[in-house]
Amino acid sequence: MQVMGLLETRMLDFKNLIILSANEGVLPRDAPLASFIPYSLRVGFGLPTPEHRDAIYAYYFYRLVQRATNVKILHAAATKNAGEMSRFLYQLKYESGTPPRERYLQEEIVARPARPVAIPANDEIARCLERFTREGSGLSPSALNVYLDCRLKFYFRYVARIREKENLVGELDYRTLGNIFHEMTRAIYHSFPGLVTAAVIDRVARDDRAIDQYARAAREKILDSEHARAFDDGTGELALSVVKKYARKVLEHDRGLAPFEILALEQPCRTFFVTGNGPRVWVEGNVDRVDRLSSGARVIDYKTGVDKGEFKSVASLFDPADKQRNKAAFQTILYCIAYADEHPAELPPRPGLYSLRAFFAPRRDDRFFLAGAPLDSIEAIIPEFRERLVALVDEIFSPGLTFSPTTLRDKCRTCPYNAVCACDGQ
Ligand code: SF4
Repeated sequence: MQVMGLLETRMLDFKNLIILSANEGVLPRDAPLASFIPYSLRVGFGLPTPEHRDAIYAYYFYRLVQRATNVKILHAAATKNAGEMSRFLYQLKYESGTPPRERYLQEEIVARPARPVAIPANDEIARCLERFTREGSGLSPSALNVYLDCRLKFYFRYVARIREKENLVGELDYRTLGNIFHEMTRAIYHSFPGLVTAAVIDRVARDDRAIDQYARAAREKILDSEHARAFDDGTGELALSVVKKYARKVLEHDRGLAPFEILALEQPCRTFFVTGNGPRVWVEGNVDRVDRLSSGARVIDYKTGVDKGEFKSVASLFDPADKQRNKAAFQTILYCIAYADEHPAELPPRPGLYSLRAFFAPRRDDRFFLAGAPLDSIEAIIPEFRERLVALVDEIFSPGLTFSPTTLRDKCRTCPYNAVCACDGQ
């Protein structure tokens, strides 16, 4: 058996012949002539045209088949770009006087509906969950938010620890942008010793060079050298200008609140909850910022997305079926409780949301709103929040739990695991 292209068959005869891909566009090829001379000029001056090339291929084809004893010619009937049989085969069929015998072959492909994945709890999962009972490796508020969004996603990310697909170098996603912004604001406020006054804020906000340096230093710190090089161009500059705008908005907003004192920046914060099932479960994470205004302490959560400050009730924060569940409120109130547990002599801080896209609106407010009323203190909601949180953690540790997919399929669209669990949000 010899495998060769059509051009290589010139001057050769074969007894048995199998011709593959006899589809229009392949036999003859429909590639345009690579020439600057227009078609009409080529015709006018007798230069080769696509018709010449087709004629040459027709000659090669008929010369090849004329002396063969057994000829099998295959063509695809329904592929994306080559569903049409070659014109040469139509000629054989209708004009040759010896029409070929036709066979139509089809492989039956049955697409079975994918079964959604659901993972029942078992001993191995219980062992994985045990790490949350150790101080320093507790559940983060984000993990709890993921659990409330989708138990299965929680299983993939925090139990099976299946890593999300890495971003390709050259793509700057929102999370990275957010990290650069967080680092930039941390560095700015870290450089303010003591009381932050309007004059101190003005000094930085009016210094374009300083703002630029903070942004670049943050980018260097967040991106590894390979990514940093990739963003040392127009895209990177654009991303950096967005981060600088966000930082300026924060300074502008804070100026209206000054003077205030920064108590913590990107600081670890943790507390534990004793569940009904027995284990003491730690909840911990990094709080973006804690400050003290004349009205009291605040825990601030920076969001570069479209998070809103309103929520209906404490129950709604724990309701997986609530499409509008306010994840930022859940997370910030949880940090407030953790901070209050770490500082029992102080009044609990109030939660604050710096939703940076909303900060560009004419009226901005960094408070959360519970059923329409500003949440200036969380003292009244702490008992209910704690009770629901303990019940939630109890559920995660319950031996009868099944890590099942969410019923809110909108959440699957952007989920990094949608290829694994066969839920694609359709
Ligand atoms: S694709 Fe949907 S169901 Fe599957 S893990 Fe993600 S959010 Fe859950």
